[in-house]
Amino acid sequence: MSNCAIIFIGPPGSGKGTLSNLCVNTLGWEQLSTGNLCRKHISERTSIGQQIDFAIKSGKLISDRLMTDMVDEWLAIESLLNKTLILDGYPRTIPQAQALDELLKTKYTSLKLHIFRFVIPDECVISRLSSRYICSNNKCQAVYSLAEGSKLAPKQSMICDVCNSPLYQRKDDTQEAIHDRMIVYHMHEQELISFYRNAGYEVIEVDANRPHQEVFESFKQFITPICKISTQ
Ligand code: AMP
Repeated sequence: MSNCAIIFIGPPGSGKGTLSNLCVNTLGWEQLSTGNLCRKHISERTSIGQQIDFAIKSGKLISDRLMTDMVDEWLAIESLLNKTLILDGYPRTIPQAQALDELLKTKYTSLKLHIFRFVIPDECVISRLSSRYICSNNKCQAVYSLAEGSKLAPKQSMICDVCNSPLYQRKDDTQEAIHDRMIVYHMHEQELISFYRNAGYEVIEVDANRPHQEVFESFKQFITPICKISTQ
């Protein structure tokens, strides 16, 4: 069985991060969320963080070059671990997809790419994003929902179940930024999918408009025969 690199293509709020976390915690996989990495840079006030702060708050994309360098740096370390790797939030544009393709052909030749597309109506993600809260601890960034009756509600009000840090609402989860992010997502989604189909990849569709555990169970059934799982 070869080492897998898994890409999740889906709108913000479609559950990519939640599914990635379940895979990390129960299947022993490694995950890079480029959004989490960007927010970490901002809260640690690194020079990258200062460059990207405004773009992130307003729901714009960061430069392809910067994102690819971050991903390359991560892959250089993680590809040595012999584990299945998830890229959550990358690639988001054609230049990023081309750059990743080049990296996989030249540097990370042992990784076999699988592409999943999260399908969910816009109105559902807009409602999910408006009630989404994140753990303020950079190393955690667990995701919760304050929607009534949600299974992702924190056990204690506004406190992270995992590390007890306070929860906060992302600056780009405001109505205006959500609107802009959805436009940006749809602008790139079709061409990204066509890019992979034309390159001969199967783009596997995930019905993401279901409870996260259900999404995970069907994803797991699909992926178990293909990708390495190391249950601890
Ligand atoms: P996310 O947490 O995936 O919704 O990403 C939050 C924000 O991080 C996005 O709105 C972008 O500003 C930035 N970002 C994350 N990943 C990328 C990427 N692959 N390309 C460009 N910008 C990104």
